Amino acid sequence: MLARAITLVESLLDSDREHAQTLIQEVLPHTGKSIRIGITGSPGVGKSTFIEAFGLHLLDQGRRAAVLAVDPSSPVSGGSILADKTRMERLGRDERAFIRPSPAGRALGGVAQRTRESMLLAEAAGFDVVLVETVGVGQNEHRVREMVDFFLVLLLPGAGDELQGIKKGVIELADALVIHKADGDNLALANDTRMHYENALRLLRREGFWTPEARLCSSLEATGIAEIWQMVCEFQRLGSQQGEIAQRRAAQNLAWMEVLMVELWQERLSVQPVFRELLADLRRQVLAGEATPYWAAKRLVEANAMGL
Ligand code: GDP
Repeated sequence: MLARAITLVESLLDSDREHAQTLIQEVLPHTGKSIRIGITGSPGVGKSTFIEAFGLHLLDQGRRAAVLAVDPSSPVSGGSILADKTRMERLGRDERAFIRPSPAGRALGGVAQRTRESMLLAEAAGFDVVLVETVGVGQNEHRVREMVDFFLVLLLPGAGDELQGIKKGVIELADALVIHKADGDNLALANDTRMHYENALRLLRREGFWTPEARLCSSLEATGIAEIWQMVCEFQRLGSQQGEIAQRRAAQNLAWMEVLMVELWQERLSVQPVFRELLADLRRQVLAGEATPYWAAKRLVEANAMGL
């Protein structure tokens, strides 16, 4: 039923969208009771392997885990980067877990929007941990950070930020850094890397109830997994005491509303032929340097106010 509800939410048909919004309104009282965890890292860092090991540990702890992906479709293949391999087979087979790849054929904004809604549906269906996975490229991390409580960044032993393919600023978004594949010959290097990032985090020290930490983990050897879950639980305990997690979610909802307001407004305008023509004309003028961006934007707003 959850899979079908998500399909409805992902549908591009106008008629489905209305049903989807009604459904979300109805389930709203049953949402919000999970801990929402975002997970990012560059391709090959071991996200799938980690999520499978972490997810199985959650099930052992009596939890139910839903895994959602935020990943814009590749303009080349048309498919999703995360969906096209066989992933998390054991977790996927377990009834207490639910795995959903990224909605296909959409731009990032649309994917993020659907994922937020899917997250609410998963919560209403009784999943009490929601893992939102994203490939660490471009803007995805920020989108995911805006929809989760706890944000985890996976890193490899050794390489510095840039070599890891981690964009500047992503470390600052993290509630925890996990030096992954800390096993075998990698172990000593992983420990050095952990200390390096531990120092980096100290320099970034943030306000608030939580101090981000750097941890070691091997999904293959299942080391560090239980400790990472304990850390998330501690985050949840501290963040619930003074209501910080609730405040963060409220602020996220408000920011989401602002984004949707602009999107819906643009969408509504773009279906009006007169407006489309005006927009095309103004775009041309701005490109040709005949009009300033401000003047053009103002013309659009005024045309709309006059009911054009
Ligand atoms: P993703 O692209 O980030 O989802 O990465 P995958 O989960 O597909 O893993 C990429 C590669 O890293 C695979 O060959 C895994 O076997 C390997 N890998 C994953 N986790 C570990 C680990 O904990 N230790 C080691 N040594 N290798 C791992």
